[in-house]
Amino acid sequence: MKRLVIKIGSNILASAEQGLNTRRLRAITKDISEVADKGYQVAMVSSGAIAAGLKKLGLREKPHDIRLQQAAAAIGQSSLMWAYEHHFSEFNKKVAQVLLTRDDIANRLRYINAKNTLFTLMSYNVIPIINENDPVAVDEIKFGDNDMLAALTAGLIEADMLVILSDVDGLYSKDPGRKGAKIIKSVDKITPDIEKIAGGKGSAVGTGGMYSKLLAAKQTTDYGIPVVIMNGKKSGLLPGLIEGKKIGTYFEPRKQGLTSKKGWIAYGVRSRGAIYLDDGAVKALTVRGKSLLPSGITKIEGRFDVGDYVRCLTREGKKIAKGLTNYSSKDLEHIKGKKTSEIERVLGYKYSDEVIHRDNLVLI
Ligand code: GLU
Repeated sequence: MKRLVIKIGSNILASAEQGLNTRRLRAITKDISEVADKGYQVAMVSSGAIAAGLKKLGLREKPHDIRLQQAAAAIGQSSLMWAYEHHFSEFNKKVAQVLLTRDDIANRLRYINAKNTLFTLMSYNVIPIINENDPVAVDEIKFGDNDMLAALTAGLIEADMLVILSDVDGLYSKDPGRKGAKIIKSVDKITPDIEKIAGGKGSAVGTGGMYSKLLAAKQTTDYGIPVVIMNGKKSGLLPGLIEGKKIGTYFEPRKQGLTSKKGWIAYGVRSRGAIYLDDGAVKALTVRGKSLLPSGITKIEGRFDVGDYVRCLTREGKKIAKGLTNYSSKDLEHIKGKKTSEIERVLGYKYSDEVIHRDNLVLI
């Protein structure tokens, strides 16, 4: 069965002045129900809690006070879910609320738990509606925005496609407000030039959060999952998309996508430190597909333990890989630059020949 993740942004569903736009929300539930009726399993990532909460608090714009934003999220989340519950039931669909923080994804056990719950819900034809658990999330454990959460969800449930519903028709060749701006129909690789179009670093055009959508698309296509960015304010597009119509901007998936575990290493778990490598080790990892041995290590940064995830950097500090270390930073200080055969003599014990085994390493 095919699985879809559909991401819906706040500005499609709600505004601080008007609260939830229930007409739009209903139209979206109708389209998604049609897709589900065609045999697709659907998980949604929906924003809109904060905006809906602000309206109830009588605030006309997003406050700077984080606690107030978190309170607004708590107030608005129930309205959001109530509206989904109500409108989906019109189309005989059941929904479930799943609230996640960055920490839930970074922790392997909770990640697997979330995955199992989502699969169980979908196997009962229930549509999980995921949002960030804003009331408890502080910067440390925040996704940043729901585009990133949608990318991680797509990886988590090994989706066949991520659809990001935006307030524009897709990715434009330049700021959509400008003359001559055209929709880019298909992107086979997200290059720095493409990022620039979307208002990435080094560009002055701010195109309504398109940059963060592109980063999410980049991550998702790395998993081997295609992404479509399309207009969420127009009805009937989603069913058209799954019938094969060319709508919005299509992002080609990477040919050999990361496995679920390697995707989690690359994007889910956080690294605790860094290991600098000499040129030989860089080549062994990137060209020859080898594991990392102590002999190629030149410098250690940060404090980490056995089983933590670390970044692998070139001499110049360019990130080339990330993986699970079999040795702590303290041990590595003693065995860096040494031959594998010397590990036991130097430390008095040996966990393994490799500092990072190939199976636990992903190239960036
Ligand atoms: N989680 C926030 C909300 O539901 C929105 C975050 C975002 O829009 O990216 O209001």
